[in-house]
Amino acid sequence: MRWDRRLYDRLFPPAPPALRDALVRFQYQAVRRQIPSLHLTALVNVCLVMGVLWHVGSPVAHYAWMPVVGAFNIYRMLLWRAQSATTPPHAVRFLRHSTFAALGSISAISAYSATTFALGLFPHPVLIPVSFAFGAFSIAHSLASMRPAASCVIAIGIFPSAAAMLASGDFLSICLGFSAASVGLLQLRFLAEHQRHVLATLQLQQEVEQLASRDSLTGLLNRRAFLAAYDRAVADGRRRALLVLDLDHFKAINDRYGHDAGDRVLFQFAALIGAACRDGDVAGRFGGEEFVLLTTADDVLAFADRLTRTIAAHDFGAPGCPVERVTVSIGIQAVGAGDDFDAAFARADAALYAAKASGRNCARLAVPQRVAA
Ligand code: GH3
Ligand code: MG
Ligand code: MG
Repeated sequence: MRWDRRLYDRLFPPAPPALRDALVRFQYQAVRRQIPSLHLTALVNVCLVMGVLWHVGSPVAHYAWMPVVGAFNIYRMLLWRAQSATTPPHAVRFLRHSTFAALGSISAISAYSATTFALGLFPHPVLIPVSFAFGAFSIAHSLASMRPAASCVIAIGIFPSAAAMLASGDFLSICLGFSAASVGLLQLRFLAEHQRHVLATLQLQQEVEQLASRDSLTGLLNRRAFLAAYDRAVADGRRRALLVLDLDHFKAINDRYGHDAGDRVLFQFAALIGAACRDGDVAGRFGGEEFVLLTTADDVLAFADRLTRTIAAHDFGAPGCPVERVTVSIGIQAVGAGDDFDAAFARADAALYAAKASGRNCARLAVPQRVAA
C-alpha cells in the first residue's frame, strides 16, 4: 500500500466492508437532505458580507464576484428535488462530486480570505475571515456524514484564516483567530464522534435486519423474509420452480442421537442447500425440518435429483455422534409472474408427499393443473 494511502487510512479508518454500501446510502441521503439549507446559509452569508462591505464603502471591485456565488446558491436551491426512496447507482459519483465542489470552493474562499486579511483590503480586516470560517463550519456540518471531506473543509477553510489572525499582532484578531481555531478543533472531534455513531447505528440496523429475516439455527431466510423474496423474485416474470424439502425420518435422528445432533444435521443440511444454489436462488427454512427453495425452472428435476444424491452421500457424522444416513424428499411446483405463494406451496407440498409415499429420498414434480377450457 502506498504511504499516502496508509496515512489517509490512519487518519480516517475505513468503514468495515460489510457496512460500506449502507454507509454510502446513508451519506447520499444525509448530504442530499442538507443541500437546500447549506445553500441558503451561504446565500444569507454572502448577502450580509456584501451589505457590510457596501456600507463601509469598500471598492466594489474587491467583492464584485460575490453575487455570482449568491446566484449559484439560488440556482442550486431551485434545482433541488426531494429524493427518491431508493439510492440511485450514481450515489458514489454524487458524493465524489460533492466532495470536489466543497473542497474546491472552500480552497478558493480560504485563499481569498487569507489574502484580503494579509493585504488589509477591507476596513474591517477580520470580517471576511470570520464570515468564511462560519461558512466552512456550515459546509463541514452539512458533509458531516463524510468525515474525510468534512475534516478537510475544516482544515482548509478555518485553520489558514485562524493562523493569519493569530499572526496579525492585533489583539481583537488574535482573540477571534483563537476562537475560530478552537471551534475548528471541536468540529474535528465532533466529526470523528459522529462517524463512530453512524457506523454503530448502521451495524445495529444490519443486526436487527439479520435477526428479523434469518433463521437463527441455519442462517437461511425465515418464513417472512422468504415470502418477501418470493414476491420480489416472481414479479420479473421469469419461470421459476418452488421446491419444498423435508428431511426423511428426521425424528428418528433426534430420538437416537439427541436434539443437538439433530440441530447439527439441520445446520449442515442448510449449508448443502446454500452450496447447491444457483445464481438468483432464494433458500429459506419454514420451520422444523422443512425448507423451501426458489430456483430457476431450467432442468429443475435434474437439479433436485442431484441435491437428493448430494444429501444422501454427505457424511453428517461428528465426533461421538455417528449420524449415518440422512436423506431428503422434495416436491416441486413451477411458478411464474403473479402466482400466489400459498397455492404454489400447497401443490409443491402435495408433490412432496408423493415423494414420501414413493419411498422418500427422491424429488417429484407437482401434477400439472388442468387449465379450464
Ligand atoms: P418424514 O420422513 O415423514 O418427514 O418423518 P420425520 O420424522 O422427518 O417427520 P416428523 O414430522 O414426524 O418429525 C419432524 C421432527 O423434527 C420432529 C421434531 O422434533 C423435529 N424438529 C423440529 N424442529 C427441530 C429443530 O429445530 N431441531 C431439531 N433437532 N429437531 C427439530
Ligand atoms: Mg421429515
Ligand atoms: Mg416435516
